[in-house]
Amino acid sequence: MTQMQIDSPNPVLVASQDYVRNLLLERVEAVEYWVEDRTTWVESEVEVLRALVIEFSQTVRDMIVAHTTGDEDHTDTCGGEWPCPTVTRLFLMITKPDGQFTPARSDADDQS
Ligand SMILES: [Zn+2]
Repeated sequence: MTQMQIDSPNPVLVASQDYVRNLLLERVEAVEYWVEDRTTWVESEVEVLRALVIEFSQTVRDMIVAHTTGDEDHTDTCGGEWPCPTVTRLFLMITKPDGQFTPARSDADDQS
């Protein structure tokens, strides 16, 4: 039997990490693929889409809150120095100039 090197990553931990990463990505990507090529929606699909947008929004909001609460220098969730890499990444993605996270994006809002 081959002895695992002490400094080698634990293969079970690596496999678990890959499993969790892939599970999360597959679920998010399933939503993306579902909406990506559609041009028309039936009412029942609009309801699903509305629920998905709300759930995505809640997920992102939870990530923001989780990584912005704590003492003045560190977040409770990751213990990183504020702003931790997660907050920095979220900030860049949410505020990017060509992104969709801008207020009053719909045509209905523009016409009012
Ligand atoms: Zn953090």
